Amino acid sequence: MKINIIGAGPAGLYFAIYIKNKIPTAEITLYEKKAREAENGLGYVIQQELVQDLYQLDQEHIGELLEETSNQWNTAEIIAKEECLKIKFPLSAGLKRKTLITYLQKLAENRKIKINYNTILTPNNIEELRRSADLLVGADGIHSIVREQYKNHFEISTINGSNSFLWLKTKNRREYMNIALNEYKNNAYVTTSYPIGQDNTNCTILECNTKSLEETGFNNENGLTNIRTAVAQSFFNVLSPYTIEEQQLRWLTNNLNNCNNLSFDNIALIGESGIFPHYSMGAGLTCTFVASQHLADYIKQTDNTKEAIRIYNNTITPFLKNTQTQSLNKMKWLENINNHYKSLDGYDLINSFRFSQGRKE
Ligand SMILES: Cc1cc2nc3c(=O)[nH]c(=O)nc-3n(C[C@H](O)[C@H](O)[C@H](O)COP(=O)(O)OP(=O)(O)OC[C@H]3O[C@@H](n4cnc5c(N)ncnc54)[C@H](O)[C@@H]3O)c2cc1C
Repeated sequence: MKINIIGAGPAGLYFAIYIKNKIPTAEITLYEKKAREAENGLGYVIQQELVQDLYQLDQEHIGELLEETSNQWNTAEIIAKEECLKIKFPLSAGLKRKTLITYLQKLAENRKIKINYNTILTPNNIEELRRSADLLVGADGIHSIVREQYKNHFEISTINGSNSFLWLKTKNRREYMNIALNEYKNNAYVTTSYPIGQDNTNCTILECNTKSLEETGFNNENGLTNIRTAVAQSFFNVLSPYTIEEQQLRWLTNNLNNCNNLSFDNIALIGESGIFPHYSMGAGLTCTFVASQHLADYIKQTDNTKEAIRIYNNTITPFLKNTQTQSLNKMKWLENINNHYKSLDGYDLINSFRFSQGRKE
C-alpha cells in the first residue's frame, strides 16, 4: 500500500507512525515544506490520555518523552477582578512543540518512513501524489493546500474570528494552568499561561479584540513594554511578575475551518487542515490523534481503502463537529470580552468565561 502525506507536523508524523505500526509493509512518504530542524510554535497542553497514546505508539523510546511530561497538573486557576477560582482540570502536562516533533521524527526515521523536507508543492504535484498513491493525506495545517485544492469536495467554509492572540515564551515557572481576565487602558483581555518542558519556561497566550489591540498599544512600537505590564498585572498579587523574553511579536487571528467532509475518493484530511479548535480548548492534539487512529484502524480492517476513508468521514465528522461548536462558542465569548468584563463582577465573570464553550462543567 502506498501512502503520501502532505505535512510533517504532529498530525502527519503521528498518523504515519501509527499506520506503519499497523501495516508494516505500507510505503509511506511525507512531504514537508520546512527544514527538519525548523522551530515553529511553543508548546501544548497534553492530557495524560494522549501521553498514553504516545506510549502505545512506541514503548521502547517513550522514556525520554515521559521525563518531559513528568510535571503534571490537574488544577487550573481563573483570576478576575481580585477573585480567584481553582477548578479541576484533566491531568495534563506542558510539552514543547519542538520536543514532540523531534521525538516523532525519530520514531518515523526508525521505521524507515521517508520524509522529504524543504519541499514546496504545487497543485499539480498534489494531484500527481494523489494519483500515484492508494491514499493521500492532507496534514498540512490551518492553511492546508490539500483542503484548498479540493475545496468543493470537502465543502469548506471558514469563520473568520475578529480577535487576535499572541504566543509568548515567559519565564518564572507556574505550577499549573493559570487564566486571568483583566483590563489594560480600559480594554479587556485574557491571559492563559502554563508550564512547558523542564527548564522554567511557560507558554503564555494573550488574546483581545482588534480594537483593543490598537487602544492598548499591544501592537505598536512599544508593544513589548505594554504587553509586559499587562501580563504582569494579570497575575498581580497571585503570581510573581513574568519576565517576557525578547521576541518578535506575531499576532494571529482565529480562523475556524469548517469542513462538511473530511475525505473524498482516496484523500483524507487530519489535524488542523480539517478542524481548528480554539487554543484554549487544549483539544488540538486530541482531535489530531483520534482522527489519525480512526483513519488507520479502518484502513487496517478493510481491503478497500476508499471504503475505509468513507467510513472515517462518516464516523469522525460528528465527533469533531462537537469540538468545533464548543470552539466557536468560546471564540464568540472572547470577541465580546469587553462587554462581559464591564457588566459582570469577579465570580460571575469567571463562571461566564468558564462555561462559555457551552459545557456545564
Ligand atoms: C496558540 C495555539 C495554542 C495551541 N495550544 C494547544 C494546546 O494547548 N493543546 C493542543 O492540543 N493543541 C493546541 N493547539 C493546536 C495545535 O496547533 C494542533 O494541535 C497541532 O499543531 C496541529 O497539528 P497539524 O500537524 O495538523 O498542523 P501543524 O502543526 O500546523 O503542521 C502542519 C505541517 O504541514 C507543513 N505544511 C504546511 N503547508 C505545507 C505544504 N504546502 N507543503 C508541505 N508541507 C506543508 C507545515 O510546515 C507543518 O509542519 C494550539 C494552537 C495554537 C495556534
